[in-house]
Amino acid sequence: MLARCTSYVPRHARAMSTAASKVKVGFLGLGNMGGHMANNLLKAGHAVAVYDPTEAAVERAVAAGATNAGSAVAAAKDADFLVTMLPTTQSVIDTFDAVLGECKEGSLLIDCSTIDPIATQKLSAKAASMGRRVIDAPVSGGVGGAEAATLTFMVGGSDGDFEASKTVLQSMGKNIVHCGGAGTGQVAKICNNLILGISMSGVSEAMNLGVKLGIDPKTLAGIVNTSTGRCWSSDTYNPCPGVIDTAPASRGYTGGFGSALMRKDLKLAADAAAGVGAPIPVGKASLEAYDRICEEGYAGLDFSSMYRYVSENTRK
Ligand code: NAD
Repeated sequence: MLARCTSYVPRHARAMSTAASKVKVGFLGLGNMGGHMANNLLKAGHAVAVYDPTEAAVERAVAAGATNAGSAVAAAKDADFLVTMLPTTQSVIDTFDAVLGECKEGSLLIDCSTIDPIATQKLSAKAASMGRRVIDAPVSGGVGGAEAATLTFMVGGSDGDFEASKTVLQSMGKNIVHCGGAGTGQVAKICNNLILGISMSGVSEAMNLGVKLGIDPKTLAGIVNTSTGRCWSSDTYNPCPGVIDTAPASRGYTGGFGSALMRKDLKLAADAAAGVGAPIPVGKASLEAYDRICEEGYAGLDFSSMYRYVSENTRK
């Protein structure tokens, strides 16, 4: 069970935020999601200092008006808010180890990455022991939601830090939900992605089976989307190429949510489930399926490439 964790909130920090404030934001991790999120902070008029080891990502952000901080510590030093949008639990731990002692007093660190909820709790407790403030605020809504600033943020942390975080989260998303204490944002996120991994595996299998048995994929998707099989994986992000023009499946499975990231999230859910003894037999099967496609070269493709895998491995 996740223990509830109370964070240290300095009084001046509680008073710091109003939705209309323009603030200094450090932003770490300008990938498929973070690049758009940083852009939206700039569009809202915030001053954004960025760092990412990928030069091209930094160049794009600078062209949009960001400052190249050159390092994570430099991005953190002068920031009122530091946003992290990083790929793995370890990358967040390493980054926080580097910046916690260096960030400005009273600043709020907002981790939007999807990572292990227990690691998040430990980071929050460590930050509190150093007089620093951290919340977890993982997102749903995908790359489209990041671009359109319509993300949902699932926030774990104190009431005061949740309120303060709205100053920047409102520029990047539409729904900002307080889930509870530290780590509960991550709990919400991994439970959602447990469902998503399973539903995408199911839709991929069903769409492929239908196509191989001779039905037109658009006809099948239309039936599913007005029937009991309907879900986000079928009606918004259908994995069969050509069914939805804007879905990654219709552009070679590029530019979305990588299979490696889905495998990571299913593993986070499996580890958390093992920790409390909750059975997830279907989730484990989906994790195994993502393990397999990642090993077979699909790791960098969008996670809806599960369809391509099952299609290419069908006998007929
Ligand atoms: P991505 O792989 O496209 O981007 C990650 C970026 O982080 C890369 O540009 C990489 O160079 C950078 N990076 C790596 N280590 C770094 C460090 N130490 N400091 C600064 N930058 C560093 O990943 P993404 O799709 O943008 O996802 C980011 C996070 O958001 C992940 O935790 C993912 O699970 C989560 N997420 C992704 C989606 C999606 O649809 N892509 C949706 C919801 C949540």
